[in-house]
This record gives sequence, C-alpha cells and structure tokens, in this order.
Amino acid sequence: MDTSRSILQKVRFSLENCEPFTFWIKRDDLIDPVVSGNKWRKLKYNVEKAKHQKSKGILTFGGAFSNHLIATAKVCKLNGLNSIGVVRGDELTNESNATLKKCTEFGMELQFVSRSDYKKRYEYDYLYQLRDQFSQFFIVPEGGANFYGAIGCQEILQETPNDFKHVYLAGGTGTTAVGVISSAPSVTKIHLVSALKGDFLGDEVLKGLQNLSYNEAESHSSYKQLILNTNHHFGGYGKVNQELINFINTFYQQTDIPLDPVYTGKAMYAMLQDYREGLISKDDKCLFIHTGGIQGAKKWSDQLLFVTS
Ligand SMILES: *Cc1c(COP(=O)(O)O)cnc(C)c1O
Repeated sequence: MDTSRSILQKVRFSLENCEPFTFWIKRDDLIDPVVSGNKWRKLKYNVEKAKHQKSKGILTFGGAFSNHLIATAKVCKLNGLNSIGVVRGDELTNESNATLKKCTEFGMELQFVSRSDYKKRYEYDYLYQLRDQFSQFFIVPEGGANFYGAIGCQEILQETPNDFKHVYLAGGTGTTAVGVISSAPSVTKIHLVSALKGDFLGDEVLKGLQNLSYNEAESHSSYKQLILNTNHHFGGYGKVNQELINFINTFYQQTDIPLDPVYTGKAMYAMLQDYREGLISKDDKCLFIHTGGIQGAKKWSDQLLFVTS
C-alpha cells in the first residue's frame, strides 16, 4: 500500500448563489482501489501486530458490502496472512455480491452467521469461542475499530500542513476521527459527519480518545475539538436519495473527484452546506479527508458518472 499516492489537492467548487469555495482535500481514496482510504490506515498496525504475534492471520467482521472486509482480505493476501471474515447474514454465500466474491478471490474464508449471532461480536464469550475455533488468528473488530486502527489514522494529518482551521471527514465507528483529533493542533476543529442515524458517535470518539491517552483531562480537551454533525445521514446508513446522487455527479463534473454515496458524498455535502450557511468563512483554511469507499459505490454504478473499481 502506498500512502505517498494520497496527495493534498486544492479544490475550487462553485455553489449556486454563493462565492466559490476553495478548500483542500487529502486523497486517501488514491492509496489503492480496493484497500481505499482509511481502511488501509486502520489495518496497517493491526497487520503489524498480527505478524509480530506470529498469528496465522486476521479474523474480522463485516456486512455484505463492507469496505473493511474486502480491504482486510487484500491486505492479508499481500502480507502473507490468512483472513477470515465473519459476515452478517446466514442467507448469503461467497457469490452473493461483488464485494463477497472479491473477498473470496483474495483468499478470505467467509463465515456467514445469523443476525442474532452477529450481534454478539463484542461479547467476550463469543470472541473466546471464535478464538478457540480459529486458533492463532488475531481478531480485529468490525471496521478496524481498535487502538491500532486509531494509531494508523494519526498519520493522515501528519502528512499535511498543520494550519487548517477546519477538518471535515465522514464517520462510521469514529476510529478515523479519533486518530485525526489526537494528531491535530489544539485549535483545529474536527467536523465528523455521521453516516449513521443517532448520536452515539460522540461517545464512541470520546472512548477512543480515552483509550489512546490514559489521561482524562487530555482526552476531554481533545474531545472539545470535535463538532459532530448528525444531520446529514440522508435517512441512515447506506440510505441514498436522488439529491445525493445528483450532488455526487455534479461534484465529479466540476472537480474530477469521485465520492461514494455511503460516506464521503454525505460528508462533502455537509461541508458545503456549512460553507453556504456561513459556518466556515471564505478565508478559513479547510481540509476534507477523502476516506475512500469508491469500491463500495458499485451498488450505484448505473447512476454515477464515474467508473467504480
Ligand atoms: C469505513 C469508512 C468510513 C468510516 O470510518 P470510521 O473510522 O469507522 O469512522 C468513512 N469513510 C469511508 C469511505 C469508509 O469506507
């Protein structure tokens, strides 16, 4: 995986009845077509840990279209590790969709479990059972949401100048945001746009920051840099409407940059809305972290103007 491909690009976007907005975008989507963006960041130190422990491979969890599962499959293959994916839905097979097919092609062994079993993925008893069943596998939580995942995400901002006033990114588990906040200058505001309904993401980020620092005062003061945006999930995780598709196509026509409908499209929409509403001023230096996800946009490929890998 080559993070030097993740360039910092200056973008000028024209909005209706508004002055054009100039901002910067960190192109983590260019790291790899499959292991895109933050998924590589979150796996990097998990892979190191698995290798150091002389594990046979990585066992992890995901839904049928999971960017994380396919990223894990490819990264493990490249690193000579085996991989096991525990997939939500016992009606599924290796052939059910392009994501699962590719996981299998990369050598991942898929274990399809019922929705009720999948719910147990954070319970110790269930994890011990999996550990006994697949001995010597290093277990990584869904979405790469652990300490090593967050550490890997600290490297995103370390590759950029440190004078941004605002940083925008999309959030699922909040792990990427934990890495970003903990590596940002204390004056930088981190705007996290939730791809899911609900307000739980703030608590997850605080927990993640506490895991990193062992210092209550420090983690709470970092947490104050977070601005959580829960108004742009477009109906919830994976929910997409015509307005969002049109926006993603318009953005692509103007900038040549593809966005995915599940995460980055919603986050970009939110950032431009904040600009329109005057929450960011024209002179504020603003960074958007493109966390990737184009692999997952295949589901909507007949409506999108760009080719998804
Ligand atoms: C998985 C994913 C996210 C969510 O990252 P978290 O660290 O779980 O918050 C954001 N953007 C894209 C494109 C993703 O695939």
